[in-house]
Amino acid sequence: MLARTKIYIARLVNLLLFAYSYLFSKIFNKVKVYNSPLALHIETSSRCDLGCLFCDRGQGIISRPTDFLTLKDFQKIINKIPKSIYWITLYFQGEPLLDKTIIEKIKYLRTNNYYVEISTNAQNISKEIATALVESGLNRIIISMDGVTQSTYEKYRINGNINKVYEAINNLLDTKIFLHKKNPKIIVQYIVFKHNEDEIEIFKKIIKKIKVKTKIKSAQLDSNSIDYLPNNDRYRRYNINNNILQRKKKPPRPCYRLWKEIILLQNGQIAICCQDKNGDYINDNWYNTDIKKIWKSEKINNLRLATIKGTPLEICNNCDI
Ligand code: SF4
Ligand code: SF4
Repeated sequence: MLARTKIYIARLVNLLLFAYSYLFSKIFNKVKVYNSPLALHIETSSRCDLGCLFCDRGQGIISRPTDFLTLKDFQKIINKIPKSIYWITLYFQGEPLLDKTIIEKIKYLRTNNYYVEISTNAQNISKEIATALVESGLNRIIISMDGVTQSTYEKYRINGNINKVYEAINNLLDTKIFLHKKNPKIIVQYIVFKHNEDEIEIFKKIIKKIKVKTKIKSAQLDSNSIDYLPNNDRYRRYNINNNILQRKKKPPRPCYRLWKEIILLQNGQIAICCQDKNGDYINDNWYNTDIKKIWKSEKINNLRLATIKGTPLEICNNCDI
């Protein structure tokens, strides 16, 4: 009990240090980082069973090899990270439920009092897996469902089966009821393209009926995929200017995410945020360097400084924050 209280206090202090560091940097145009990350994203799997249209992993654009993080390496890193980190997500460029040790990993984190989230394409949630997920103590699961019919869904989720998604949601809901558990919280996410925007309202109705939360997200596109931009401006991340996509919102100045979180890729590389899909900005390796050192390194500080000065990184042009 005392140990747990200590952890909660350390996390609260870390949150305050984050707010102070971010505001200080913003007001005085100087990089100050007194806090540890609030959240850590760990790519436990860099493999996927789908070939989603504009996903770098699905399209094989990501150059690093695909594999799973071993349970041993995972535990090693968790034992080394600052205890003041609160939130851990177990996905990045890959499908976490292909990893045979994912349940053990979730349990390990829950035993150590972390809030744990996964995001999945929901192609592999049988009754058995649903039971294991609910029993693992997982806090939150995001399920991708970008369409309500197979013909719409598979336009983006290449090789995906919409019936498996419905089945996955039902299996999780039934298991939660059967085991009298509130968690994992389920969020069904819908990425909006031109081809699926007409199904959004039906999607909302279906999901409302089963009392599950939804997240409607704008699609990340590039100039070659302008045809996929939804007609409804509300769902567009970009404006079109001379046939070039331009982000509607300006990136935050400075970008708070660089003070808040960091991503550990399966092969040891570090990514600075969710747009840094190949870990191109930090040439370091978390297998053999202390995360605390990487977090406060000159390299990351220079990137933080760039966002303070309002010179966003190339990847910021595609970001949705
Ligand atoms: S399921 Fe996720 S990781 Fe896999 S191809 Fe689709 S978007 Fe990419
Ligand atoms: S892409 Fe840019 S704006 Fe988006 S999270 Fe990364 S640094 Fe921040």
